[in-house]
Amino acid sequence: MGNKVDILGVNFSPMDIESSAEKIIEMTGEEGFHYVFTPNSEMVMAAVKDENFKNILNSANILTADGIGIVYASKILGRPISQRASGYDISLKLMERLAGTGKSFYFFGASPGVAEKAKENLLQKYPGIIVSGTHDGYFDKEEEKKVIEDINSKKPDILFVCLGSPKQEKWIFENRDKLSAKVAMGLGGCLDVYAGNVKRAPDIFIKLGLEWFYRLIKEPKRFFRMLALPKFMINVISHKIFN
Ligand code: UDP
Repeated sequence: MGNKVDILGVNFSPMDIESSAEKIIEMTGEEGFHYVFTPNSEMVMAAVKDENFKNILNSANILTADGIGIVYASKILGRPISQRASGYDISLKLMERLAGTGKSFYFFGASPGVAEKAKENLLQKYPGIIVSGTHDGYFDKEEEKKVIEDINSKKPDILFVCLGSPKQEKWIFENRDKLSAKVAMGLGGCLDVYAGNVKRAPDIFIKLGLEWFYRLIKEPKRFFRMLALPKFMINVISHKIFN
């Protein structure tokens, strides 16, 4: 998996979309449960403030750089990660690669109906993928037990957990000994994007490193959450100067 890249105490795997998908596919053929998170700068800032969350992130098999902020930070710190490998892009690569192979997915999260709509759209886009189960992401303790039972009865190779961060990372960590899946991934709002409820930024924004700006225009309520990005960059620069 190569050397880890330490960004403010969070140990990233310097992997691109292709090599992350490759490694995840390899893990579906291994014994045991694996999990993958894709932190952005907001999540790293949450980890700086919360040691427990940092340990949860660092316990993952793979941590890829979801946001451009992480890529810039790695360059500033002289331990470059060459490109973003967002959870969304890795998930699409996995579906492309696993269509027709018999490997299966389970979609867990988002509002009722979204995971089913996501499944419908993705079956059209990637004929031959197997989505063996879906469940929305709003549950109480009783319902949660049933979700875990349902996941375990289907034994998916890859479980997409889309509860938003840090809920999804904590959920995967807390249930890591109970889940019969080969790999779980924390994928935030991806189900909303597959379902067509939320649009991803046009390529030009992504290429220019401005996807965050597009999301801000589309969802101004994200403004306060996004203040994590400048705070993160200030932390990285201070770290560079004082360490
Ligand atoms: N969500 C959920 N259960 C919850 C809270 C949130 O399933 O208890 C879902 C929500 O419906 C949305 C996703 O989690 O589909 C969070 O999306 P967001 O884009 O905010 O994710 P983030 O930016 O945190 O990765």
